[in-house]
Amino acid sequence: MDILRDLLINILFLIIFLLFTPLLLEKSGVKSYMKKWIMTSSFCVVVILCISFPIAINDEFIFDLRLVSVIIGGLMGGIPTSIALLITTISFRSIFGGAGIYSTLIISVVHFAFLSIFYYQFKEFSKRKKLIVATVIGFISSISVVLVIIIGFQTPIQPFIIATYIVLQTISIFFIMCLLDVINESVVMRKRLIESEKMELVSHLASSVSHEVRNPLTVVKGFLQMMNQNDIPFEKRKEYLALSLSEVDRANQIIGEYLAFAKPQLAKIEGIDIKEVLEHTIHVITPLANMNSVVITKNFETCLIKSNKQLLQQCFLNITKNSIEAMPNGGFLSIFTKKKDDKFVITISDTGVGMSEEQIKRLGEPYYSTKGEKGTGLGMVTVFRIFSDLNCTVKINSKPDNGTTFIIEMPL
Ligand code: ADP
Ligand code: MG
Repeated sequence: MDILRDLLINILFLIIFLLFTPLLLEKSGVKSYMKKWIMTSSFCVVVILCISFPIAINDEFIFDLRLVSVIIGGLMGGIPTSIALLITTISFRSIFGGAGIYSTLIISVVHFAFLSIFYYQFKEFSKRKKLIVATVIGFISSISVVLVIIIGFQTPIQPFIIATYIVLQTISIFFIMCLLDVINESVVMRKRLIESEKMELVSHLASSVSHEVRNPLTVVKGFLQMMNQNDIPFEKRKEYLALSLSEVDRANQIIGEYLAFAKPQLAKIEGIDIKEVLEHTIHVITPLANMNSVVITKNFETCLIKSNKQLLQQCFLNITKNSIEAMPNGGFLSIFTKKKDDKFVITISDTGVGMSEEQIKRLGEPYYSTKGEKGTGLGMVTVFRIFSDLNCTVKINSKPDNGTTFIIEMPL
């Protein structure tokens, strides 16, 4: 029973560090190279904890589930992680002394060599194959450990202990790989949702943009027709030409801003000016506002922050698009910013249909939409996800028929 209890404690370490760490990292928005180092540290911590709370067979020989961490770490993290694990295992195990040091040395070096070489092949496997191969490696590794101890050191071990060890190491690797895959999948899905929501947004805005571009083109066409008449004085011609050019510039800017947003870009964090992001947002949303007779008023302060321009713009576009859609018969959309203590506050308010308490509560629920066919119910989901990744808070004030105000607070 003691052996079983000790093994279960080992499994607890594996679950806490190998499954909770990636979950927490996913929430925290840490940079990817930092993530790799934090994960490597977690693998090493598991090794240290497993060695500290081992399953003792007799005074000299002890074993534990550290190899689960070594195998999964080596297969997922590659050579740097394997080196860290090798050093941690050998140096920490040396502290305890005993003949077990030699078996540790042999087993660790063999695992290190095998995992370092095999890593490059393993990387290319499909998810299913990875799971099967990792489990098989866990099984073979546990048998080799037993053989090293029995043959190499002539230590008798009860068959029950051998079986328990082999089964637990193999099963642990199988389940941890399964769960890591589920965690990974949800990270990928989350990224895909934001991407596909952006495409949805882009296609919704397309008709208003093309409509808006048609207006300057019609104006230019009119001027060109007038200039074609022979009796137009030179001064008038010049005036028409200037007006045509400015209209073409306007059309160019509308399309340019729209395409800049539509273009897929790397999710990079950089120094950006919120004022600029909001100005771009207004350029993209103006065609839709014009189509709905919505007047936009604005007042921005400059504020430099480190963030992702495209993601922020996606949020602002979703919020302003909802505001405009809440005013089918026209109204006012006002956007202003203010610095408050260590925060930058952005207020976006409309004079639209507003929302009841119940509706506000349901905001951010996937597929919740009151727009029927026209709505996707994914806009606010992405807004909340992106803002939470960027450590921003969103407050909503709204009453039916009284308009809605979004207050976004960003840390400076
Ligand atoms: P969609 O716009 O596709 O319906 P969203 O997630 O963007 O999906 O919004 C969900 C719902 O929240 C909308 O259907 C609407 O009922 C409500 N909503 C969001 N913003 C506003 C607003 N400014 N005024 C009134 N209702 C809003
Ligand atoms: Mg929407």
